[in-house]
Amino acid sequence: MAQSHKSGDDVITPGVYRVVHGAHHASEYEVTCVLGKKFPPCHYCGQDVQFLLARPAQNIEYDPNFKLPECSL
Ligand SMILES: [Zn+2]
Repeated sequence: MAQSHKSGDDVITPGVYRVVHGAHHASEYEVTCVLGKKFPPCHYCGQDVQFLLARPAQNIEYDPNFKLPECSL
């Protein structure tokens, strides 16, 4: 069972989420949600949106393998 979140929840697992609008005014699609943000409300159906975790993915900015040395400037 995929992790499911509503608008207003904190993003605990960053990654790609499938968006399901309560009013079904849009087809399902995928978005990227990053750590430290909240799942946003929709302009049309407000809080009635489900975010289903499709696959976790970390923000490359937090990946130590891609961090530039601080003293290189
Ligand atoms: Zn909506």
